[in-house]
Amino acid sequence: METNLWKKYADKRDELENFCSGYKDFISTCKTERECIKRAIIEAEKAGFRSLRELIKNGEKIKAGDKVYSVNMNKSMILFVVGKQPIENGINILGAHIDSPRLDLKATPLYESGDFCMFDTHYYGGIKKYQWTALPLALHGVVVKKDGSTIEVNIGENENDPVFCISDLLPHLDRKAEAKYKEVNGEDLNILAGTISDEKAKKDKIKSNILGILKEKGIENDDFFSAEIEVVPAGRARDLGLDKSMVLGYGQDDRVCAYTSLKAILEAEAPEYSAMCLLVDKEEIGSIGATGMHSQYFENALAEIMNIAGQYTELALRRAMTNSAMLSSDVTAAVDPNFTAPFNLATDAHLGKGLSLNKYTGSGGKSGANDANPEFIGQIRKILDDADVVYQATEMGRVDEGGGGTIAYLMAKYGMNVIDAGVPVISMHAPWEVTSKVDIYEAYRGYVAFLKSVR
Ligand code: MN
Ligand code: MN
Repeated sequence: METNLWKKYADKRDELENFCSGYKDFISTCKTERECIKRAIIEAEKAGFRSLRELIKNGEKIKAGDKVYSVNMNKSMILFVVGKQPIENGINILGAHIDSPRLDLKATPLYESGDFCMFDTHYYGGIKKYQWTALPLALHGVVVKKDGSTIEVNIGENENDPVFCISDLLPHLDRKAEAKYKEVNGEDLNILAGTISDEKAKKDKIKSNILGILKEKGIENDDFFSAEIEVVPAGRARDLGLDKSMVLGYGQDDRVCAYTSLKAILEAEAPEYSAMCLLVDKEEIGSIGATGMHSQYFENALAEIMNIAGQYTELALRRAMTNSAMLSSDVTAAVDPNFTAPFNLATDAHLGKGLSLNKYTGSGGKSGANDANPEFIGQIRKILDDADVVYQATEMGRVDEGGGGTIAYLMAKYGMNVIDAGVPVISMHAPWEVTSKVDIYEAYRGYVAFLKSVR
């Protein structure tokens, strides 16, 4: 609590701002899983990482110091740096998720209602629905045509782009509902898409006009079925506060840890143990599916990597997973100055106090938690202290107040040591989330130290 992390950076503000401006740009332009992966591939190739698929196709082998990346369905990814020690001795793993709460367009989203054409949505992840009304929204995603071609959609981010919006009732006519304003129904999160009629159309004139505009972009009504269009807050991440100490941005859960983890692996050079960064999808809805942490993708990709390193046997793969250690790099809730009630001020995370380590998450008596082992935490303390990284030992909220989960338990099932280590966030899952620049930078420094560490 006493640690004033800003004091540490008083003479190094430029270093901090430089890192955070890269971060702000990342979350301003990468607002979907696919956009994060696309950017990560560009940065990885710049840093000397080579595609696992290409290496396999060309029958090439890899050795200590080599860097490899693997992409799964454009929505999850592994970056790997081969260590000096055999891979079966264990890997230092950073794992973050790149999906964030949002609204998804339905498979048949367009309809006409009164004077409007609307987009119907189904929300993704845990949101407070009322927060998503009456603010500018953008559409990001892809439409896949029957011939396999893909049309990228990104509307609402450029100054001249239109934006989208979910309407909300004026307070004058909302007296009855005001007291329970939080009860906006998921089904009512419909987006205003347009109001002009196509006079030549026989029915649904406004929808017909919107379909005409979409057709110019190559998109037909039926194409929405094979599309993945995410509705996200429009606009860039910004400095927050007169002292510019914080970042206000969309999707910081968990792209703040994804970015810092990615940056850490990109600069890993010939580490003692192999180093890995996992960027995964679907954490916000239970990590299920081919691109979530529940899938076999991690094991399969690791087997391929060990194979081209000439180190694959079934036993070596099992040992590699068991001997690995992981920082589950996911955000945690920081004490909110406006809503302190659900927090324990002594044991919860505070903004600006450094990398937050949650020994366990879960809720209601640690249910569903990965409870990290003290032997492992002892090692982590030494790694962070030796690297002069400031961290805080935290929980998420008062006991029995609620709770949360991460991908930690899904990696722990392999028998490896895992602890949650991430950036504290205020207004988590809101359209605009708050982080502190010192925490972001300290997390990155902690991840760098961890990837280099020898256990
Ligand atoms: Mn998260
Ligand atoms: Mn979350």
